[in-house]
Amino acid sequence: MTLDEILKEIKNAETIVILTHESPDGDAVGSSLAMRLIAKELGKNADVIIPEYSRLFNFLPGASEIKKDSDVEKYDLAIAVDCADLKRLVANEYFTNAAKTIVIDHHGSNTMFGDYNYVNPASPACCEVLAGMLQYYELNISKDLGTCLMTGIITDTGGFQHRGVSPETFELAAELLSKGVDIPYIYKMTLRTKTKANFELQKRVIDRMEFFEDGKVTFSYITKQDEKEVNAEPGDHEGLVEIGREIEGVEVSIFIRQREDKNAYKVSMRSGDLINVSDICFIFGGGGHQRAAGAVIQGDVEQVKKKILKEVEKAFEKAKGMK
Ligand code: AMP
Ligand code: MN
Ligand code: MN
Repeated sequence: MTLDEILKEIKNAETIVILTHESPDGDAVGSSLAMRLIAKELGKNADVIIPEYSRLFNFLPGASEIKKDSDVEKYDLAIAVDCADLKRLVANEYFTNAAKTIVIDHHGSNTMFGDYNYVNPASPACCEVLAGMLQYYELNISKDLGTCLMTGIITDTGGFQHRGVSPETFELAAELLSKGVDIPYIYKMTLRTKTKANFELQKRVIDRMEFFEDGKVTFSYITKQDEKEVNAEPGDHEGLVEIGREIEGVEVSIFIRQREDKNAYKVSMRSGDLINVSDICFIFGGGGHQRAAGAVIQGDVEQVKKKILKEVEKAFEKAKGMK
């Protein structure tokens, strides 16, 4: 059983590093800090390396321990959480240099890039996968560990709204609540708090929103210049893709954000029940989940828009054909 081997590797390692995906969300930061506390329960100190993340996650227990980098060149063990492939893993040199590697995730598009891979695409959050691990190891869940887990679950499910939330998710939430985890506080700190810069970006995204496919598709974007003008910090683009999705009749929301290397855009897509956006992003070398996926596409706004809309149109044609 993979979980037994993972336990053995953690117990055998003297130095452990925990890594996650770029532009880390609540599940990425939550699972990283939860994994750190799990290692601690097993008597191990682990380094969490996340060079950039939203300061809104600083309320998480252990956030002050997050490192930007490390002096350790070769860790005995590297653990990647909430990340589907090596390309998206930040500071991935610590992963490739490590003697042993473990991947714990919930993405259907996971490439199984570790020596040991514990991936459950049926879980709505990587934090729920970690909870399963804790149960198997019969480890105690402290309030701090529960707070990290709950944060990943709340943020990745949009507060228990998305499909993929199962009776087990609610059972886990009930268990964490009984451990003293403050669910209203986590809601407030994650889903109910936005930075001023995020609010300013929202205004621009709304202003530029375009509709396609008879109102079933929305498209909007932000550039590096926008981010500069509103003094955006890491994570300030979070949630912008959700704006289009909430409009009546919209099946696919497309949001693109200019990358550092100016001639490329990070694409975020969200969908309802009809279209599998992971398939569309896969065409561009990306991936994700059926209803939430991403990719990176070269070009300017108009070029990137055209490339995606062409594939979205095809997906609608295909969906019509299947009815
Ligand atoms: P995002 O739109 O960035 O919130 O991402 C939505 C989902 O798609 C997340 O589960 C990501 O892990 C996944 N995803 C985003 N960008 C990529 C990418 N370039 N390659 C693979 N998966 C991605
Ligand atoms: Mn994530
Ligand atoms: Mn996740």
